[in-house]
Amino acid sequence: MDQVFLRPGERPFLVRGWGNFPIELLAALAGVKPVTHCWVDDTDLGYVEELCAAFGLRHLVFGRQEVARGTVRLEVMIGKDASMLRECADIWHAPDQNPGVLLGYPACCVEEYMTWHRRYVSCDAADYVDVINWAFERTHPRPERISFLVNDVFYLYSRRWGQNGPLKRQEIVRRNTGLDLDLMNVVPWHPCRYDCPESLRKAEAVWALMLTMAPKLAVMLKTCLARPVLFWEWSRFAVLKGRPTGDGFAYDGVQPPFSLLEPERIAEIRPAAKVRARPDGSAELLDGSGAALAWKGAAPLLLGFAE
Ligand SMILES: [Zn+2]
Repeated sequence: MDQVFLRPGERPFLVRGWGNFPIELLAALAGVKPVTHCWVDDTDLGYVEELCAAFGLRHLVFGRQEVARGTVRLEVMIGKDASMLRECADIWHAPDQNPGVLLGYPACCVEEYMTWHRRYVSCDAADYVDVINWAFERTHPRPERISFLVNDVFYLYSRRWGQNGPLKRQEIVRRNTGLDLDLMNVVPWHPCRYDCPESLRKAEAVWALMLTMAPKLAVMLKTCLARPVLFWEWSRFAVLKGRPTGDGFAYDGVQPPFSLLEPERIAEIRPAAKVRARPDGSAELLDGSGAALAWKGAAPLLLGFAE
């Protein structure tokens, strides 16, 4: 979804909604992301030049691919510093090099993500642990509240797929028609843990810029990200329309983004009024009188994303 970016003293600029490009661009402008990588149609090169001129950025075309007769895609690096674009382009296709840090991801998060990535090859494997559980396991002490700025539940780009992953992702996108899931993140990477200082520092910088440059996007993101999430696995979660109460969250229903969670699970969540975390991080539902309700199946994790 295209986004209008405001520039003090100048005309607003329409930023193309290529994937999560508006978020990546904000990260680049906030000084968080030295290099942004993207594929564009060759006919869009003029637009890329205009965009770079508008925001004081440089670009480097370093690859081209003919995808159909007469349609050429260009591989482009965008960023402030031309030498970093070159450096990143030079290692982009080298199998033994990881460009993560040049792309602005904290080194600790790159390392942890790669460990997880090597360990889990397919989301269909019986012992698959999602990157969300992986980060939560590494967060000590277990937080009652997590900054919504590092909410990566809807960041569905860089999970491990298997046979069913891509189809499930498509179905999640379909269930959220009208809501651009590609933009549902403030940091375009997975934090190594939910209290990663470097991720939080970078997230604050992106968020501060988003508030002034893309305020409508900021409102939409906060409405979706600053909410407690019941998390079973990457394609089955429930976002609660809730607010912190001091010892958990009060809520009145399930809100978008929606997942593939079964209607029976949603029916279990709806009548409760409150949710709090058990010592192991799993969620406990309470009714209006404060009595705990038993889960019919496995208890989900409570990810207490809040402001
Ligand atoms: Zn980290």
